[in-house]
Amino acid sequence: MISSNHSIFSVICCCCSVESREISTRVNLEPSTPLCFNSRRRPGHAHRMDRSRRKLPPPPPENDEGAELQVVAMYNFTPKEDTDLSLIQGEYYTILHKQDQLWWRVQDKHGNKGFIPSNYVTEKDRIEANQWYCQNITRSEAEQLLRQEGKEGGFVVRESSQKGCYTVSLFTKALGINGGIRHYQIKLSDSGSFYLCEKHVFSSIPDLIKYHNHNAAGLVTRLRYPVGPMGRCVPPATPGFSSEKWEIDPSELTLMKEVGSGQFGVVRLGKWRALCKVAIKTINEGAMYEEDFIEEAKIMMRLCHPKLVQLYGVCTQQKPMCIVTEFLDNGCLLNYLRQRVGTLTMTWLLSFCQDACEGMEYLESHSFIHRDLAARNCLVSDKNVVKVCDFGMTRYVLDNQYTSSTGSKFPVKWSPPEVLHYNKYSNKSDVWSFGVLMWEVFSEGKIPFDGRSNVDVVEEITRGHRLYRPHKASKDVYTLMYQCWHEKPQGRPSFSELLKSIRELAELE
Ligand code: ADP
Repeated sequence: MISSNHSIFSVICCCCSVESREISTRVNLEPSTPLCFNSRRRPGHAHRMDRSRRKLPPPPPENDEGAELQVVAMYNFTPKEDTDLSLIQGEYYTILHKQDQLWWRVQDKHGNKGFIPSNYVTEKDRIEANQWYCQNITRSEAEQLLRQEGKEGGFVVRESSQKGCYTVSLFTKALGINGGIRHYQIKLSDSGSFYLCEKHVFSSIPDLIKYHNHNAAGLVTRLRYPVGPMGRCVPPATPGFSSEKWEIDPSELTLMKEVGSGQFGVVRLGKWRALCKVAIKTINEGAMYEEDFIEEAKIMMRLCHPKLVQLYGVCTQQKPMCIVTEFLDNGCLLNYLRQRVGTLTMTWLLSFCQDACEGMEYLESHSFIHRDLAARNCLVSDKNVVKVCDFGMTRYVLDNQYTSSTGSKFPVKWSPPEVLHYNKYSNKSDVWSFGVLMWEVFSEGKIPFDGRSNVDVVEEITRGHRLYRPHKASKDVYTLMYQCWHEKPQGRPSFSELLKSIRELAELE
């Protein structure tokens, strides 16, 4: 039986209890101090063995635990340095050494060894190792992906609103001329079995998917065609271009068209080694505390998340200095919204908020404060994914008008009372700004407190006034942004709580 009042479809009867639980046991591959900058490569051990002599006992494994850890490549990777190893999507590799959180030394099946970006591989028993799994994808992105493919029975499996639970999104031409999409949450029975249809239960999600590859069994169509990210979409940004370099050789950069200009200087589209599209931000003389920034850049490069604009490196040996980051084709979120007024569905608007919230949750989990979160500081990819950028950068701005809370360029309308009055920044001050960012999204790029001076806004906020409900926001969405504007930081939700609420709303839309 299919019960389907919302657009999450479950093929179970309503009296079945549903638990949420972590599906796979995760082996922690990350060191406990994630942001330390320690990336010297260790030489291999092979040369120490004299193979011409009598048979020696096998060499000890190179990895830290002494056990072989196997991973599977989710994306192809082309080596950038002599010491890197190429990855072929779907192939297995053995981890030799993970001295660094972001770059690992691995061995392929032919015995070749080298460094790879750790976000390109996953443990072989993890759900991410399957072709049909899409990590970090919102409901709207899943729908976009499936519509683009337009194949009968095209499907993806993605994380659902409840952590540790998964949803199958399925495309069929049977639902209208342009086709339609159904979302089915994978249920977990009391006995720990997985099912979409209560009559057919399985001990693992891959087994369940395999069964429904051949049998619709209550679904609108069978799961015919996996539309996962593997080999189909652009691989994620690597954490820098190699494990040890944050200084980029300017001769390897090609400058192309200008795409904007900001507080520090002009931003251009460019290419690194004619290979990789990058944004090159030139820093005007006297615009930045350069030395402090260069120190911080080593840490910022190690912040790596699909919803953050990746910092690839810096060119400091020339004047003017420049910063090289991932390039996003659709430019800044504020302009993106303003250029599309009236055309974006509520589901998409919520999806933009979810993306930004995911990036911010990552920063929060690394105790990193953004300090200037706003739609103008988010960028949009060609796949309409929003990524947060310019995190922490205000600390290096050399301009009183921007850094002093009474300055004309200070983001007063995005700042909570404790920042306006005491300059007190925290992840919770970012949460306040996130509420204003949600407001910008749901008003399709309007200016908050439009027509009011900064002085008036400080007074209104202090008296307890808040932004009104924007025209595209439902009551639930407005409640969420309103919670971000609690007078006291401790009264506001954390980003991880916000993300949970946004995911729940996204599944209800
Ligand atoms: P600000 O200093 O005012 O925050 P930026 O210098 O970061 O501004 O960027 C100015 C403009 O350049 C942005 O509004 C955007 O249009 C463009 N831009 C900046 N970074 C990128 C990027 N990584 N990819 C694409 N466009 C970018």
